[in-house]
Amino acid sequence: MGAFKLGKMTFGSLFKEPETVKYPFETKPQPMGLKGHIEIDAPNCILCGMCERSCATNCIAVDKQERTWSIDRLQCVQCGYCITVCPKKCLSMNPNYAPATTVHEPDVVKITDKEEANVEKAENEPIEKAAEPQEQKAAEPAAEEAKASAIDGQLAALIGLMDPDKAEKVKDALS
Ligand code: SF4
Ligand code: SF4
Repeated sequence: MGAFKLGKMTFGSLFKEPETVKYPFETKPQPMGLKGHIEIDAPNCILCGMCERSCATNCIAVDKQERTWSIDRLQCVQCGYCITVCPKKCLSMNPNYAPATTVHEPDVVKITDKEEANVEKAENEPIEKAAEPQEQKAAEPAAEEAKASAIDGQLAALIGLMDPDKAEKVKDALS
């Protein structure tokens, strides 16, 4: 490239808008197929650790005791391999950049135990649960009375079909 051409380009760029933007205050439209950041669908994760074992840069950590899944986003190279190995298909690539940060620490996601989630749900419905036995208690004597009266009716019908002497004996035995 000749000195004249180079000088012309340099001079021309003085009057053009810069190609760069002041990220994160400004962003550019994201191109098609951009690899942004890994996301997890936490309720479906079973903490199997396949993603941790398969990650090429060791940026995923799965802690079964603490029930956490974490990723070091500054170490992830967005290769997407962890997405393909997850047996529950709970990892995906969000095509947006992760938020800008000034500290280097992993993103930690708490994986809620499904049983724990059910207990929490049950604790939020104490009134309905408490009401159930009361209603049941009130319904029980009525059901017993109906049953007894049905049995009495059947017995009376049977006694009516018996020989009068036998019927008397049965009545005596029942009284
Ligand atoms: S995208 Fe690649 S580097 Fe990033 S967490 Fe998944 S396997 Fe690791
Ligand atoms: S592979 Fe999937 S299910 Fe297993 S720990 Fe990773 S995200 Fe969870």
